[in-house]
Amino acid sequence: MTDLYARDEKAIGTLQKLRFFPLAATGGEGSRLIERNGRRLIDLSATWGAASLGYGHPAVAKAVSAAVASPAGASILSASNEPAVALAERLLQSFPAKGDQKVWFGHSGSDANETVFRAVTKATGRKGIIAFAGAYHGCTTGSMAVSGHSVQADAQKADGLILLPYPDPYRPYQGDPSGDAVLALLKERLQNTSEPVAAAFIEPIQSDGGLIVPPEGFLRKFAEICREHQILIVCDEVKVGLGRTGKLHCFEHEGFVPDILTLGKGLGGGLPLSAVIAPASILDCASAFAMQTLHGNPVCCSAGLAVLDTIEGESLADAAERKGERLREGFRQLAARHPLIGDVRGRGLACGVELVSDRETRTPAKRETAKLVYRAYELGVVLYYVGMNSNVLELTPPLTISEAEIDDALAVLDQAFEDVEQARVDEGVLGRFAGW
Ligand code: PMP
Repeated sequence: MTDLYARDEKAIGTLQKLRFFPLAATGGEGSRLIERNGRRLIDLSATWGAASLGYGHPAVAKAVSAAVASPAGASILSASNEPAVALAERLLQSFPAKGDQKVWFGHSGSDANETVFRAVTKATGRKGIIAFAGAYHGCTTGSMAVSGHSVQADAQKADGLILLPYPDPYRPYQGDPSGDAVLALLKERLQNTSEPVAAAFIEPIQSDGGLIVPPEGFLRKFAEICREHQILIVCDEVKVGLGRTGKLHCFEHEGFVPDILTLGKGLGGGLPLSAVIAPASILDCASAFAMQTLHGNPVCCSAGLAVLDTIEGESLADAAERKGERLREGFRQLAARHPLIGDVRGRGLACGVELVSDRETRTPAKRETAKLVYRAYELGVVLYYVGMNSNVLELTPPLTISEAEIDDALAVLDQAFEDVEQARVDEGVLGRFAGW
C-alpha cells in the first residue's frame, strides 16, 4: 500500500470511489499507468474508457497547452470561442442524418444524459421515457431517473419510466436469444401506458450493465417501433462511441440513425467534456435550462478536436476492430484452460468477459471476479468489472494499445486466472476491495 493511496482513503469521500485495488498512479504513458515505484501497469480499461487515446497523447497535450495559453474566453454562455464552434461543426459533420441538428456541450456523460432527459420532456410535452434494466446513464438526479442499474436502486425514477430487460444473448429474456420477446414486451408496454413517451434511451452496447452486445437486428427493429409512436431515440455512446467499436459511432453497426446522440469520456482525451447532438427543436428548448459556466470551454474543446483528428488521422476505428478481435481470440484461448470464463463478447475494443462458477448453470462468479481484478493488478494489469452481477470483466483499453501489449496483458491474466482458480488470492480483498 503506497502512502498516496492511504492518503486518498483518508481524504477522499467514498461516495466518489470504487475500490478494486490500491492503485495510485503518479504518471502515465500510452497504455501504461505508472506507480511511484516505477512499476508500469497495462491499463486494459483505459480508466473506464475515458483515456481512449491513452495517457499523455502528444496531440492532446499540444492542443491543451496552446488553449490554456490563449486568451479566448473561458465559457460559451455569452461569447463564441473558436474551439467550441469548430468542435460542434465537426461533430455535426460526423453525424449521418443531415437535418437541423445542433450540439450541446457538457462535462460528463451524466450531465449530457441529464440534459437530454430534461430537454426531450420539456420540448415534446411528454413525460414517459423508455430505458433498459442495467443501463447506467449517469449519477445526477435526472440521469439516474432514466437509468436501470442495480447500483442506483434507491434513486428516484422518472414518472412513467418503462424499464425493459436488455436483450442479452448469454442470459436471454424468456429464453429468446433473438430479442424478439423484448420487442413484444415493448409493444405491450406502449399499448398499456397512459403516459405518452418522449424518448427511448439506448446503449448500443450495454456497458456498466455487463458489456452486452444486443442480437443482430434488435436495435433496428426497436427503433422502428419507437418511430411508429413518435418516440425520440437517444443513443448513449458515452462509453462505446468515437471509434471504440470499429466505427466512429457505434450505431453505424446497427442500420439506424438515432435522433439524439450523447458522447463523453474519451471525447475529451482525459479532460472533462461531453456532447449531445440533437434536433434544434430539442436543443433550442431554452426552458430546459442547461448551462454551466465552464461548458464548452476552449481548453476542453481543443482537446476534443485533437481527439477527433487523431482518431481519424491514425485510423483508430479500423485498428480497434483488428485489435479487439485479437483480444477476444486471446480470451477464447484462455477459456480453454480456465473454466471460470463463461462468455467472451464484444465489438472492436469494447469487450466483455463473463465469469461463472458453473458453465452449465451460468452461475455468476462474483467473488472470483473481484479476486481476479485484484490479482491482475498485483501482476501488472489494470482492469475493472461491471454487470448487474458484478461478474463481467470490462475491457476497453486505449485505442492506441499495441498488439504486443494486448498479448502481454493476456499472459498476465492467464496467470491471474490460475491463481484465483487455485485459491491463491487472499479472501480479505473481498471486504476492502469489493468494487461494486
Ligand atoms: N453513460 C454511459 C454509457 C456510461 O458508461 C457512463 C459512465 N460509466 C455514463 C453515461 C456517465 O458518464 P460520467 O461518469 O462521465 O458522468
